[in-house]
Amino acid sequence: MFSQQDSKPDWVFRNARIIDGTGAPSYLGEVAVRGDVITAVGPVGTILEQGTNEIDLAGLALAPGFIDAHTHDDRIVLDAPDMLPKISQGVTTVVVGNCGISLVPVQFSSEPPPPPMNLLGNAASYQFPTFADYAAAIASVKPAINVAALIGHSALRLAVMPDITVKATDAEIARMGDMLTEAMENGAVGWSTGLFYPTNAAADADEVAALGRYVSEHAGVYATHMRNEFENVLESIDESVATAKNAGTPLIISHHKCAGVENWGRTEQTLPKIAALAEEHPINFDVYPYSAGSTNLRADLMTDTYPIMISWSEPHPEMTGRYIVDIADEWGVDIHTATSRLQPAGAIYFQMDEDDVRRVLSSDLSMIGSDGLPHDVHPHPRLWGTFPRVLGHYSRDVGLFNLETAVHKMTGLTAKVFGLTRRGEIAPGKFADLVAFHPDTVGDLATYESPLQQSVGIDWVMVNGALSFSANGAPTTRAGRLVHRDN
Ligand SMILES: [Zn+2]
Repeated sequence: MFSQQDSKPDWVFRNARIIDGTGAPSYLGEVAVRGDVITAVGPVGTILEQGTNEIDLAGLALAPGFIDAHTHDDRIVLDAPDMLPKISQGVTTVVVGNCGISLVPVQFSSEPPPPPMNLLGNAASYQFPTFADYAAAIASVKPAINVAALIGHSALRLAVMPDITVKATDAEIARMGDMLTEAMENGAVGWSTGLFYPTNAAADADEVAALGRYVSEHAGVYATHMRNEFENVLESIDESVATAKNAGTPLIISHHKCAGVENWGRTEQTLPKIAALAEEHPINFDVYPYSAGSTNLRADLMTDTYPIMISWSEPHPEMTGRYIVDIADEWGVDIHTATSRLQPAGAIYFQMDEDDVRRVLSSDLSMIGSDGLPHDVHPHPRLWGTFPRVLGHYSRDVGLFNLETAVHKMTGLTAKVFGLTRRGEIAPGKFADLVAFHPDTVGDLATYESPLQQSVGIDWVMVNGALSFSANGAPTTRAGRLVHRDN
């Protein structure tokens, strides 16, 4: 039944500095929300009706909720659905299933899942043979933030292949393709590879392209942790682009970097190369705002040319947060022996050049993705700090780009790349994912030494029209959903 009451907005935000996510200049304005949708936006004086809740945002910026383009939050959204590390940064959507690693469709009968699958949890964490199962779990848990999901190639290979050290047969590709089809039909937004990882490395470009075609049929994207981010980074870019073109999928190069001391400075080669290739095929990349990476502790990544910090260790939890050279010293062994004694373990590698990080962040093609590892005991600070660090440190303090561009890289651009047509912008008809923050004080506090620090300057976060985080500790609700094209 229609009445006057029905048309009244639930929320009207007044006097906000609106940064709409498109990269356009911000302006002082107001936004109305009804249910889970933005119903009106404009300069001060546009919205004449009163909202049930009238909020004055003088002095605050209002932006679309941030989309974390690169996460490994597949399991943590179910196990710790408040998602405090992310929502406290203003993140309202996480893209899960990166680097070839996803909870669907593989299951493990024995502990531990092989690296890198152990980055998502133990064997019991893997309980979703179909994407429909995972979608149902998201719907029933209802995490505080939205989830957009990729399916990982390692998860497919481990589900189907008795021997993952070889290339898949045609029959195995067909089975993996059926699983990808099921996932895409039930709401996945694309798929990923992690050709750098032992569970994925035996797949050649033909296997990847053959599987990519199943995803392309459903307009999905292809994200890749490339085979090589060290000396062969240029060759890996060629392989990634050729494969994506062959499959007919847009390409997302994951956490673009030039790793290893001898490769520092080489983004001066990679970025122009990618930009030229992007003229002919849709290509973007994600980046986290730090010069250290993090993954499993790996013998083949061990070096004394830059520091390496332990982020977790099953046999030696007392060594988390310490540098490998110090641990080796204390034990009276070399770093390689120390590495094998710590296994299974995770590490933070200080393997990048700050100038490279800044060049990648500054590229028009880059989106912000944390790549945070939520199950690590002593995680890389990117888990708690990525988005405020880009807004505060890199945009406001260093001046790499203006605030509108910073927000665009974490909202409108990301939504466009992943095909999330109703997210990432403040405009009528878009879902009401919003973040209000203090542009003068927003910033990260998490450090390598003390990584479990909540960022500052994020005032509140709304997800699908529900107040879902408040810096002052006011009660909130969880309203996250599985998101895909048009929802
Ligand atoms: Zn990766």
